[in-house]
Amino acid sequence: MDWREHVVSHRRTLHQIPELGFEETKTHEYLLQQLREMGLHPIVRNTGMWADIEGTGQGKTVLLRADIDGLPLQEETGLPFSSRHAGIMHACGHDGHMAILLATAQRLVSHRSDFRGRVRVLFQPAEEKPPGGAVPMIEAGVLDGVDEVLGLHLWSEYPVGVVQLSVGPAMANADEFIIRVKGRGGHGSAPESTKDAVLIAAQIVVNLQTIVSRRIGAFDPAVVTCGTIEGGANFNIIAEESRITGTVRTFSEDTQEKIAEEIRHISQTTARLYGAVAEVEYLKGYPAVINHAESVARWSEGLKGLVEMRQSNPSMGGEDFAYYLHHRPGAFLFLGCAPEGEIFPHHSPHFLLNEKALPVGVEVLWRGVQSVSS
Ligand code: MN
Repeated sequence: MDWREHVVSHRRTLHQIPELGFEETKTHEYLLQQLREMGLHPIVRNTGMWADIEGTGQGKTVLLRADIDGLPLQEETGLPFSSRHAGIMHACGHDGHMAILLATAQRLVSHRSDFRGRVRVLFQPAEEKPPGGAVPMIEAGVLDGVDEVLGLHLWSEYPVGVVQLSVGPAMANADEFIIRVKGRGGHGSAPESTKDAVLIAAQIVVNLQTIVSRRIGAFDPAVVTCGTIEGGANFNIIAEESRITGTVRTFSEDTQEKIAEEIRHISQTTARLYGAVAEVEYLKGYPAVINHAESVARWSEGLKGLVEMRQSNPSMGGEDFAYYLHHRPGAFLFLGCAPEGEIFPHHSPHFLLNEKALPVGVEVLWRGVQSVSS
């Protein structure tokens, strides 16, 4: 078997053993065994690992990163190689990322004379679980001696052979907020002696939607989503407390700060309007993924003739790949993997990826290495 067949078998094996962030023990074992069989000497941190592959001659060190965790979802694809772990699924394509990186490593090991310098392959845990697995890897020294960092994400919205790689923002700041409303509970028949925490929460949810529409410029992308709202105990009881949670997506730090401040201001003043109080907790998540211009230019040049480059809007999703790009130049690319039939979104229990994208991914990383080392 050469790497083209391996890449599909790696993916199917890994697809069957999805594990949650920092619990990727079977995945870890598989990856470790594969890298050792290639003659590599992985350095292990948590459930992740990295290994260096030396090319021929002096050159730069490129880090290639794959994330390795699955999601808390019950798979419903009906695939013959479906998840064997109840309630856990590779529904974002991380099984594919690992397979692509393993096959790339295998190809690099058997073609050391085709690149200069060194390639570090990194298998990172817990991308789906903020604060994520990237920071612990960086703290453990994975970027020591690294000149450039490249990564990719399979993308089911694009057909196989289409790639998105753009200068600047690729993915968003992904933050979380929790609002706790404290009112005064009482009898459902006598609202005049209460401060209704359910009504106030409803007003806050509506008022928060004026932040993007009335406070942020039309050319500055931002999302404010209230994902949950809960409160109250029974139909005839006016709730004393309620709770709203949500997420904010932005690209600039200024806009991020402004929205955080607006959420506090609107929540507190709305609650006060009805004689109650609101406490706001704003938790910053992964920062935005910002691609470096030179890395994008070189990698794009290398991909000419292989894939169709699409220039589209950045994703409002979050990714802890962002942290590597805070420390080193590099880029993050979206690799088309739309299946033949119906396309399901990432994180859907029906999520499917087209395995024809996997060898394309290997070639894309291979050319990424060439673009830095030559
Ligand atoms: Mn993902």
